[in-house]
Amino acid sequence: MTALVWFRQDLRLLDNDAVLQACENHDAVRFLVTPTLSQYADHHWSRIKWDLYQRQLNALGDDLAEMGCSLEVAALDYFSDCGPFLQAYCDEHQITDIYVNREYALDEVCRDAKVIELLQKQNERTTTVHQFDSNLLVPPEQIKNGKGEYYKVFTPFFKVWLKHLRQSGVAAPYGRDKLAREGVGKFEHAKLSLPKGESRIPDTDSAELANSKDWPVGEANIRKKAQTFVRELVDDYKGNRDFPAVAGTSTLSAYFEIGALSPRVAAHLLQKTSPEFPEGLSEGAYTWLSELAWREFYQHLMFHEPRLAKGEPFQAEQAAFPWRNDAKQFLAWCNGRTGFPIVDAGMRQLNTTGWMHNRVRMIVASFLVKDLHINWQWGEQYFMQRLVDGSFPANNGGWQWSAGTGTDAAPYFRVFNPTSQSEKFDPDGDYIRKWVKELKDVPKKHIHNPHAYLEQSVQQQGMFNSNEEDQTRYPKPIVDHKHARETFISTFKQVKNTS
Ligand code: FAD
Repeated sequence: MTALVWFRQDLRLLDNDAVLQACENHDAVRFLVTPTLSQYADHHWSRIKWDLYQRQLNALGDDLAEMGCSLEVAALDYFSDCGPFLQAYCDEHQITDIYVNREYALDEVCRDAKVIELLQKQNERTTTVHQFDSNLLVPPEQIKNGKGEYYKVFTPFFKVWLKHLRQSGVAAPYGRDKLAREGVGKFEHAKLSLPKGESRIPDTDSAELANSKDWPVGEANIRKKAQTFVRELVDDYKGNRDFPAVAGTSTLSAYFEIGALSPRVAAHLLQKTSPEFPEGLSEGAYTWLSELAWREFYQHLMFHEPRLAKGEPFQAEQAAFPWRNDAKQFLAWCNGRTGFPIVDAGMRQLNTTGWMHNRVRMIVASFLVKDLHINWQWGEQYFMQRLVDGSFPANNGGWQWSAGTGTDAAPYFRVFNPTSQSEKFDPDGDYIRKWVKELKDVPKKHIHNPHAYLEQSVQQQGMFNSNEEDQTRYPKPIVDHKHARETFISTFKQVKNTS
């Protein structure tokens, strides 16, 4: 009776139910990962996310090798290749049981359903697939309202989610000691590259980052990063989390996304800070826990609303919104050349590091949709292609929230004013100056709206340059915010009312 652990986006041994159960129930366990390269490319995985995934996969292979186990890597193209591949694999290696952690978006759900169907139908020997929910604290079926429906609004969802944690506690995550086998081996590192995926947006000229070296891999490093955040920063999280110039958030999102860190490990670190969990947590810790719940809210939403994975807005009537989709303005947004300093700083942070602060993600998203009137799906794809933490549920959720088309979204008439957001959340302009080099000498008084100041200093120096395309000069605003805001609100209302 040989079991197989089939890794997907759960690249860890610590607190991985599929791994633990396979090792507890079987004497012989094989470990396999099947990166589906063309599928990931079509899902717009960024090069930097792929690099991180591959580095963590290699670290996992090393960890398994240390325990005398080997990780097999079989590169496939599409999810549809998984079934036939596993069928042949199970025949060859006499696999009776496969252990996996569930993933909740439509393509992933269909992939697993096909695998199960194929293994049951066509194998001489039935191979049983055991599914676990190790990438969530609470699985989607467990959070329902009195009518048995899923929650469309976050606050009641959060209450029930907390009730589950309160009732069941957050079990201590188990480590690799439970899995240890004899022997020492060596893992041959995989070197795979992603092909180019399908694109629905104009080609951009900002470079695609392909190196994730700033993100340490290996379970010990990642756990240490989480521990340090909880020990040193979480209590101040509530006060700091909205200020992009302050390193006040965990920057753990990329690890949650590839499953190198489990939410149970994160929540357990919080639980250890207070005997009265979750009520006794500090304000900061409680707020951080609620962000872990947002992550799960959007994963549940994907599971319950498969149409979201087909590109539909949650508020279906908004599919008819007459977007302007101006390619030139879209490129200005992508390249951080809109003339709105906080927007440009955010986009340049993304293009330079593969990550962007949450407050700024909200500002740039609102700007693309409500100021430039460009389809939020263009922004959604651009983010996926650039983010190291690109996560379909969180990204789709964040974009639909910002566009006002989502469930429990920002109301459509709430349009972020990029200048006042900047004054409020980057009061000294430090974040702007860090990312927008042309503004590094602009005084605090002018940093949020620097155009008059820049014009004056250029004229004083006698070097007025009227060339709008000059990359060394900070661009003028590409849109009039007040006018754009009014047009967006009236158009959105019209679409809403004609549905
Ligand atoms: P922390 O503030 O430390 O939060 C802890 C964890 O909670 C995060 O690591 C993340 O897993 C989760 N989380 C926090 N905020 C949210 C949220 N609003 N929605 C869902 N989960 C959340 N997050 C992604 O992980 N991947 C994405 O592709 C993504 N795209 C986004 C797009 C837009 C337009 C917006 C507005 C938000 C998006 N987010 C996304 C959510 C959020 O911006 C990031 O999770 C956060 O900035 C990651 O930084 P952190 O790890 O320091 O977060």
